[in-house]
Amino acid sequence: MPAKTAGKPKPQHKPNKTELKKQKRKRDHEDLHKLEEAIAQLDPKSGKVKTFADLSSAISPATASGLHSSHFTNMTEIQEQAIPLALQGKDILGAAKTGSGKTLAFLVPVLEKLYREQWTEFDGLGALILSPTRELAVQIFEVLRKIGRHHAFSAGLVIGGKSLKEEAERLIRMNILVCTPGRMLQHLDQTAGFDANNLQILVLDEADRIMDLGFQSAVDALVEHLPKSRQTLMFSATQSKKVSDLARLSLKDPEYVSVHQDATTATPTTLQQHYIVTPLPEKLDTLYGFIKANVKSKIIVFLSSGKQVRFVYESFRHLQPGIPLLHLHGRQKQVARLEITNRFTAAKTSCLFATDVVARGIDFPAVDWVIQADCPEDADTYIHRVGRTARFQSNGRAVLFLDPSEEEGMIKRLEHKKIPIQKVHVKEKKKKSIKNNLQDMCFKFPDLKYLGQKAFISYTRSIHLQKDKEVFKFDDLDWDAYASSLGLPGTPQIKFQKGEDIKRIKNAPRQGMSSDSESDMDLDGAYDKKKKDKKEVRTKYDKMFERTNQDVLSSHYSKLVLDGGKEDDDEEDDFLSVKRRLNDDDVDVLTGTAPINSAKVIALGGDDLYVVDSKRREKALQSKKKMAKFRGNSSKLVFDEEGNAHEIYELQDEEDFKQQGPADEQRQKFLDSETVRVKEADVDDKLLAKQRKREKKEKRKAREAMEMAGGEGVDPQLGANGDGDDPLALLRSLPMAGEDRSDDSDAEPPKKKAKKWFQDDSDDEDAKKKSKGGKKKKGGKVIEVDQEPETLEDLEALAAGLLDG
Ligand code: ADP
Ligand code: MG
Repeated sequence: MPAKTAGKPKPQHKPNKTELKKQKRKRDHEDLHKLEEAIAQLDPKSGKVKTFADLSSAISPATASGLHSSHFTNMTEIQEQAIPLALQGKDILGAAKTGSGKTLAFLVPVLEKLYREQWTEFDGLGALILSPTRELAVQIFEVLRKIGRHHAFSAGLVIGGKSLKEEAERLIRMNILVCTPGRMLQHLDQTAGFDANNLQILVLDEADRIMDLGFQSAVDALVEHLPKSRQTLMFSATQSKKVSDLARLSLKDPEYVSVHQDATTATPTTLQQHYIVTPLPEKLDTLYGFIKANVKSKIIVFLSSGKQVRFVYESFRHLQPGIPLLHLHGRQKQVARLEITNRFTAAKTSCLFATDVVARGIDFPAVDWVIQADCPEDADTYIHRVGRTARFQSNGRAVLFLDPSEEEGMIKRLEHKKIPIQKVHVKEKKKKSIKNNLQDMCFKFPDLKYLGQKAFISYTRSIHLQKDKEVFKFDDLDWDAYASSLGLPGTPQIKFQKGEDIKRIKNAPRQGMSSDSESDMDLDGAYDKKKKDKKEVRTKYDKMFERTNQDVLSSHYSKLVLDGGKEDDDEEDDFLSVKRRLNDDDVDVLTGTAPINSAKVIALGGDDLYVVDSKRREKALQSKKKMAKFRGNSSKLVFDEEGNAHEIYELQDEEDFKQQGPADEQRQKFLDSETVRVKEADVDDKLLAKQRKREKKEKRKAREAMEMAGGEGVDPQLGANGDGDDPLALLRSLPMAGEDRSDDSDAEPPKKKAKKWFQDDSDDEDAKKKSKGGKKKKGGKVIEVDQEPETLEDLEALAAGLLDG
């Protein structure tokens, strides 16, 4: 370890710590002065700084040698432009195409900032790097580890997948953290002794994604924890200059560094882009044919949801196309996700089916093809997906599959964004129908059929929720043919049901559709097993299937049944669910058109009649709580002094009313006065709420800090009980928009877990992991937070790593 270059000589004998520090400070002071001078003279426009060596007088020897030993010599354009400005302390909005080296453009300034501030482990958190996904955070961390290896800073990865407490212990000593926003917020809110009050520099990679609706609440809350006087760097291939975003991060006069804004294309020039028009029902055939024809390649196939990914992966696996298949989505266990990314990284030939969880930033080496089997939600997503190939001077090819109804709209969107794309046709002889194989398989394996049904439902839902109706035309798609192309015996019936959820999804559009988060939240088991066509022959497999999925289906099913009486057929802004299929002689409560004959009907006082057409409904009659839904609303009365009952709002005498002036005027007056009142009250409420929140947090942190200081005597449970103080604690531990945090929190609610039908990759990996035992840390000073030390050796390595400074 070239300790010299790090300015931190390695002591031969037991050092006197303070003495050493003094020496170091003095020497560093002189060096720093020189650095500052060199930085002030940097001029990115001069065109003189082309290599990292040209930069060497303006950066620390540690960074310079880290870059050198990682074989980075020439700077890319964005690095040339952004690094000097960032070194000068400017806030930066950086934009450059995918694969053009943005990571180093922010990592070098991060290391340098802390170096010049002479940051030590005692100074706490100095730099925070936000990533929208765990995979990208891991990758950034790896690059940081490489180029920062000669520095003495401690760096950690905070992405969840472990309990808060486990992460918390080591977090407190970290200087640089790479993290996902939601998880970071959790720690800032809940971890005793951890704060960001000293933060020097904040980085947002994939900044436009982090600033969008999916992360809004987490990011806004996070920023409240950060000091205003800090440097902020934002990077993306699709950077937005939104003023509101700048305001949210309190950026003042940022430098806009856009190296490709005059380029003729928004995508790398080494990328060839094509599209194929293939009707939805033929999509899987086309995809299978493509994979068969390219078994010697490395391919990523993007699909719109985790369920699509699972079904396509499982069914293609049965078909054995002759290329190793992998699949990745946000609902997999963290260990499995990492293992799969590693495997695909290392693979020479492989086909990875994935959601948008790897659409951004991930730098898989040597990907030949990016296939977008499901159309991306917008042109920006398209740019990021295809950006997984043709990275940094290498070549790549991309193919987009479009249904005829999507062609015109989508191509218009792409042209508008300067994306050069050409139409191609699939060779007739390369076409291969797998519909029959899928039908056979779905018949043989009820589990696969079940996955198919879920995939179907999630696809219809994603199309329905897409915002761009010029591209996604729900009614133009042939849903029956699509269902049958998946091998399903019938089309799962779907219905858009009005409900809260649609608002939630609309407010966080990316959560619902593209699936960084892969929340898979609502439709697990939405398939209604009772609605199967009566004439269909029930096989023993069908019965088995029903049994297998009983626990998954029952809660959802009963909800559907109970809500039945309240649904209406307003399909406009509805939410998808399975429509309850009524038997022929049943009563159609949904529309009220069918004659009521066989079922028992009870008037409960509400607007609707309660129809007892099933055992469940009969049972519900016994439950006060359930029946409360069906009773009409009661009204509240007030009593005057004479004991007479009045409605709370009673109409005023018309004469009196008229005397007070014209109605319009009165209304306006009332509105004005109420507006003022509400505004005032709102400000007060917000202030109060903020203050309360802060007080509670401080209190809890203080108490936990005391407990920690108090040491062994304290029941470790106390801290956990303390969580009860924060009314938002549970909410925070729930999955955030845009991020799957299902396994992030220690107070994890019992996950709705479907039974396992297939051997899960994570099973092998868990086992492998266990047999390998604790992973040994590399002897560097950069310490990973994502691994719990499992052996004494680990613990020692960890301590050594920290103290090695
Ligand atoms: P972006 O964030 O712009 O998509 P990355 O930072 O992930 O791009 O870099 C893409 C690839 O280019 C990575 O494999 C990285 O190692 C490589 N790279 C970046 N900068 C340089 C450089 N100066 N010299 C050589 N390779 C580089
Ligand atoms: Mg990047």
